[in-house]
Amino acid sequence: MSVGGPLATRLAAVRARLDEAARAAGRDPASVQLVAVSKRHPASAIEMAWAAGQRHFGENYAQELRDKREGLSLEGLCWHYIGRVQSNKARYLGGCHRIHAIEAVRHAEKLVGRAPDGLDVLLYVDVAGEASKGGVAPEAVVDRAKALAAVPGVRVRGLMCLPPAVDDPEDAGPYFAQTQALLADVQAAGIEADELSMGMSHDAHVAVRYGATWVRVGTAIFGARPT
Ligand SMILES: *Cc1c(COP(=O)(O)O)cnc(C)c1O
Repeated sequence: MSVGGPLATRLAAVRARLDEAARAAGRDPASVQLVAVSKRHPASAIEMAWAAGQRHFGENYAQELRDKREGLSLEGLCWHYIGRVQSNKARYLGGCHRIHAIEAVRHAEKLVGRAPDGLDVLLYVDVAGEASKGGVAPEAVVDRAKALAAVPGVRVRGLMCLPPAVDDPEDAGPYFAQTQALLADVQAAGIEADELSMGMSHDAHVAVRYGATWVRVGTAIFGARPT
């Protein structure tokens, strides 16, 4: 399929929307990086996005990430694991550029064993008190970030959130604002973290207003996920 296909068009439209949101917020568009969420889409879709210039890809099933990583060798491609970490699947997650949803210190300890150059993680914040979705309660974030940063080889790069689904993307704003404020608390505790992973297809432009540095966009780039 040609590089100028619909996927490339959608990708360019997403990037343009992010750039516009960044400028509107007085931010440098280059400070907002796009993670193309390719879960459940075939490797061929990743190849097309890569051909169109996309370099960061996110997956949230550990085995799927492992299989795609082993099957693809595309220069400059960086993998992001955006799913919840499970101990028994940690072995599939070596070589990731970022682990976006770390919660437990024991998971970080397990993963860092497979990361000779160190492990870059973002701490998953449970912004809406939805324990079923996982994440660390806001009041526990600073202590957990400190505990993670104390693990040799682990670098706490920032925070990640996944607000509840809302009809109006603006309604996600308070959750993004809370995560941004928590990042300031983490920094005040002496941790050099400056990344925020937040925003998806429908609300990425809102997240950018609240300082998102990684936005995780799937559907708007790849279309509906195959079931
Ligand atoms: C699937 C997923 C996304 C992408 O969602 P879209 O609505 O398709 O953009 C982002 N973040 C996480 C954690 C996901 O699981």
